[in-house]
Amino acid sequence: MDHRHEHLYIGGAWVRPATDRLITPVNPSTEEPLGSVPEAVEEDVDAAVSAARAAFDAPDGWATWEPGRRAEVMERFATELDARAEAIATAVSSQNGMPVGLARQLEVGYPSAVLRFYAGLARSTEFTETRAGLLGGPVEVRHVPVGVVAAIVPWNYPQVLSTFKIAPAMAAGCTVVLKPSPEAVLDSFVVAEAAQAAGVPAGVLNIVPGGREAGAHLVSHPGIDKVAFTGSTPAGRAIAEVCGRLLRPVTLELGGKSAGIVLDDAVLDPAVIGEDLVRATLTNNGQTCFLSTRILAPRSRYAEVVDLVTGLARSLPVGDALDESTVIGPLVSAQQRERVEGYIAKGRAEGARVTTGGGRPSARERGWFVEPTVFADVDNSSVIAQEEIFGPVLCVLPYDDVDDAVRLANDSDFGLGGTVWTADPERGAAVARRVRTGTIGVNRYLPDPAAPFGGTKASGLGRELGPEGLRAYLQPQSIYR
Ligand code: NAD
Repeated sequence: MDHRHEHLYIGGAWVRPATDRLITPVNPSTEEPLGSVPEAVEEDVDAAVSAARAAFDAPDGWATWEPGRRAEVMERFATELDARAEAIATAVSSQNGMPVGLARQLEVGYPSAVLRFYAGLARSTEFTETRAGLLGGPVEVRHVPVGVVAAIVPWNYPQVLSTFKIAPAMAAGCTVVLKPSPEAVLDSFVVAEAAQAAGVPAGVLNIVPGGREAGAHLVSHPGIDKVAFTGSTPAGRAIAEVCGRLLRPVTLELGGKSAGIVLDDAVLDPAVIGEDLVRATLTNNGQTCFLSTRILAPRSRYAEVVDLVTGLARSLPVGDALDESTVIGPLVSAQQRERVEGYIAKGRAEGARVTTGGGRPSARERGWFVEPTVFADVDNSSVIAQEEIFGPVLCVLPYDDVDDAVRLANDSDFGLGGTVWTADPERGAAVARRVRTGTIGVNRYLPDPAAPFGGTKASGLGRELGPEGLRAYLQPQSIYR
């Protein structure tokens, strides 16, 4: 595969970049270069913000369109994305190592579903209501678009995480400057083609592939009204500081270290819970923010749970992300592999026991692979139980009783996801209610577009998805009449 792009999608057109700087993504399965795209620098970001500003501020601009008309454009956009499903899936998979089967499920079908969901909400939401005032006259309460949005996303789910921002922003009447991560940019060019083919009006969506500097310039740009960020907790803190100083609204979807609580009645049969457990703990080679990577097992069944998790991890085919049979692909970069291997070394040094994996798969000479790795006898205060590893590494920890399990689950700086595994879903939901995270699943985990998704504590601020995700792009104006 060879992708070369020479222009940037700004103001509804393909424009010449300000410099000849390039981003050259590499295939983590093979270490081969994949092509090149222009790297957006400050001047390009300025041009993108101006285009988004003009589209938003125009007297007959996107923000003033009747919501149903915006919804039609969004639905056409979804259709154009679906028409490019295979190009997007292979672009994502060959850049970040996501197994291509997973990329087909999550990086194509899901984003277009989210676009259609928000198109529906654009139609059904009451953007203006009139309330009886307390002081005599009525009050007209309008929910108006917040303005020009800076959307900054990481490489692990470039399509899903972009759509979590673009879809509600478009439904609200906002315009967007999207900054993809340099590791996963090729797919954003397919998105630009789809937007153009769908007739998304000029300036409503602008794309500036670039690194941290472009992102930082965008966040503090005077033409931006709101920042929507997904990425690491340290970057989120840096962005929140800037937004705090500027009093600029910001939503942050950050890291996680979620708990998977296995209750004592769980059916520990790989044929029954294996697929859902792997999905909830190792999806995308462990490069997923919400994974239940701290598996909490009752002492009475600790050995059984360790055996189950070890057996599942050992059984997963590791291979080239574009190979249909692959379940665990490579990590996104050499640097990311080094980070993950550093954590494995720390886990060993802290006295935890590796029950499977712990190294590089011997069959793979190229590519940034790490074997699916399970640590048993992990202490919850240890580094591998507290920090986000972002690779295929799981910890299994024992607990005494349900109160102890809930205490351990909540003993984390993060609060994004989690799961409860049980034969009794009602009992599972009762335990789930005691866990202080933004989301949690019983016997499964996948963010549902109908419901808010996001984190507490160091996992972020605000929510995406659901009607709540639309509210994040609206602000109220009250007119006393
Ligand atoms: P990262 O924070 O390094 O980068 C994310 C994006 O932000 C990239 O586009 C990067 O160029 C940009 N960026 C970095 N520093 C910036 C700054 N100071 N100002 C503006 N932009 C900046 O994260 P990553 O390594 O690309 O992604 C992995 C992280 O993302 C993990 O911690 C993971 O948990 C998190 N994540 C969270 C969610 C969620 O919904 N909570 C989803 C996926 C990933």
